[in-house]
Amino acid sequence: MALRSLYVEPEVTPETVDWPALEFHDVFRIHRSGPVETVALRGLDVRIERGEFVAVWGPSGSGKSTFLALAGGLDRPTAGEVRAFGDPLSGLSEAELARYRAHTLAMVFQSDNLWSALSAEENVRVALALADRDEARLRARSALDAFGLARRYAHPVHALSGGEQQRVAIAAAAAREARLVLADEPTGELDSFNERAVLDGFGRLRRDFGSTVVVVSHSDVVARAADRVIEIRDGRAVR
Ligand code: ADP
Repeated sequence: MALRSLYVEPEVTPETVDWPALEFHDVFRIHRSGPVETVALRGLDVRIERGEFVAVWGPSGSGKSTFLALAGGLDRPTAGEVRAFGDPLSGLSEAELARYRAHTLAMVFQSDNLWSALSAEENVRVALALADRDEARLRARSALDAFGLARRYAHPVHALSGGEQQRVAIAAAAAREARLVLADEPTGELDSFNERAVLDGFGRLRRDFGSTVVVVSHSDVVARAADRVIEIRDGRAVR
């Protein structure tokens, strides 16, 4: 009895449980258009731990974009469950999903992630819309510094190279402290030098900012840069 009374049950809260960043359990996504059904995902199982840098890799048509839309809460599965940091996304209201996209997530697309008429610094500050002016300036500049863009603060984005633009988008994710960064073919329009620099940026985002990074791509170079590869074929994970 004495021992029992000394024992304090550890408090278990969503914050103390180390949920994976992303889990897909037996996920199906079937598109129906009249009598035609296309099965984009057929029983996809995926588990991505916090702080991983993972490439989701596969040929065109294998289901990568569908995976990304579900992970980003932009689409819902036909069957199965998608969880982010332990929360089933299907259980979230539209307002909660909007908060998930605005606060937890950052998405980086192949191009056009930025406001092209604004400078690099202004773009990162837009991502920090809620921070106060001085704090936003400091955070924007220190994030741009971290991704090798210290000489580019004031450059309008349209005057930057494609690789620099993608690094500004990564810096914006870092400045926002996005816990999960989802990228869709982010190096698809870059030469190999810029591809390398952008992939280094994702590695740094994971290492120095603690983000979980998931890059969807059909590129072997991207697959080699990641810590782990999840290969998708015909809507299923094959490794
Ligand atoms: P990937 O990104 O690997 O190229 P997708 O996820 O875009 O693959 O597509 C997977 C499969 O689902 C493909 O056969 C594609 O044609 C189909 N698909 C994707 N989106 C739709 C849609 N909205 N309507 C019908 N079929 C779709």
